[in-house]
Amino acid sequence: MTQRELFFNHLAQTSAFPLGLEIESALGTYLYATNGKKYLDFISGISVSNVGHRHHKVVEAIKNQVDKYLHLMVYGEYVQSPQNELARALVETFKPHFKGLDNVYFTNSGTEAIEGAMKLAKRYTQRSEIISCFNAYHGASQGALSLSGSPQFTRHFRPLLPEINHINYGNISDLSKISEKTAAVIIEVISAESGIRIAPQNYFEALRNRCNKTGTLLVFDEIQTGFGRTGSFWACQSIDIEPDVLVCAKGMGGGLPIGAFIASQKIMSVFTENPILGHITTFGGNPVCCAASLATLRVIEDENLLEGVNRKGNFTKFKLNHSLIKEVRGQGLMIAVEFESFEVLKPIIDACIEKGLITDWFLFCDNSMRIAPPLNITFEELEWACNTILEVLNEKKDYLSN
Ligand code: PMP
Repeated sequence: MTQRELFFNHLAQTSAFPLGLEIESALGTYLYATNGKKYLDFISGISVSNVGHRHHKVVEAIKNQVDKYLHLMVYGEYVQSPQNELARALVETFKPHFKGLDNVYFTNSGTEAIEGAMKLAKRYTQRSEIISCFNAYHGASQGALSLSGSPQFTRHFRPLLPEINHINYGNISDLSKISEKTAAVIIEVISAESGIRIAPQNYFEALRNRCNKTGTLLVFDEIQTGFGRTGSFWACQSIDIEPDVLVCAKGMGGGLPIGAFIASQKIMSVFTENPILGHITTFGGNPVCCAASLATLRVIEDENLLEGVNRKGNFTKFKLNHSLIKEVRGQGLMIAVEFESFEVLKPIIDACIEKGLITDWFLFCDNSMRIAPPLNITFEELEWACNTILEVLNEKKDYLSN
């Protein structure tokens, strides 16, 4: 069987139309396919490869750790320097403005980090209600999926978690639904899968105040927005609002699987007793993944990547001006380009792939093109990518306008 046949015969399929690219290797901003074609990755494997594919510092850190030890023991028992050093570096990223987030729990994925944060909030507040936003993606497990507020995605997996209620992202009057019964509000600073929606500053101030007033933990899901994607290391730093719990994953691992939820030591301490082992994982904080993550964080710092993110984002927004484009939304290198409909967008995405440019759409917003390239993409590469999109739009303009 060919690799393609193996993929379709033996791998569980999650869509009737997978992209199905057959990749041989990847480096920097590019994927190299078995058909000899080279693709510019304009989505970073969905906001993962923030420092590009196989950054040499990340690969070196992985190799060094592989030569020392792999898995030693389940999470939380042995003192492992890759975990300690990464936790210290993560805590440092919040300084000097945020002081509360000083304790890190490592997981294998974003979903698991969200699950941990939900349990933490319930255990700490001794409340059971959790509030999240409609059309927000927080993960695929039954707990995290319960947060999504999308009947289309949840309908066939019921019953999900009880006592989950939803609010509209950015709607201040909905904040009155947060009460003394609410353990946590779990929300993204920038709502990613609804097609990059950015609520105004006063919304987040009102949200923070409401949580303070009701004793509710404010949990920011920074799984897509973290590790520099929006121009600051964490998106919440751009609004200067400190959450009680911050959840991260994706770009954090530089290409290896790792997530975390971060809170104060006071909040996190509830996992140590009654019951003991309040949250456990075998592989969470895997030393190789931690080493890769620390190297990723250092690359973002040492190569001064944050400095260019907003300029690159603004350049992209400025370039993408065309009569078929309805709106360009975004912050930093987290951008949505809106078209009339999915029927207009899908052939554009396909034609871009034909020309060697990979984009995508959003889970809850299928008329918008996802743009989230590696943060170290060059201006030349950005220009080529934008020109390629414009070229496709010009080629398809007459056909798609009718
Ligand atoms: N939250 C957000 C905002 C996400 O984008 C994702 C992944 N798309 C998740 C949670 C779940 O992360 P994972 O796929 O690593 O479980």
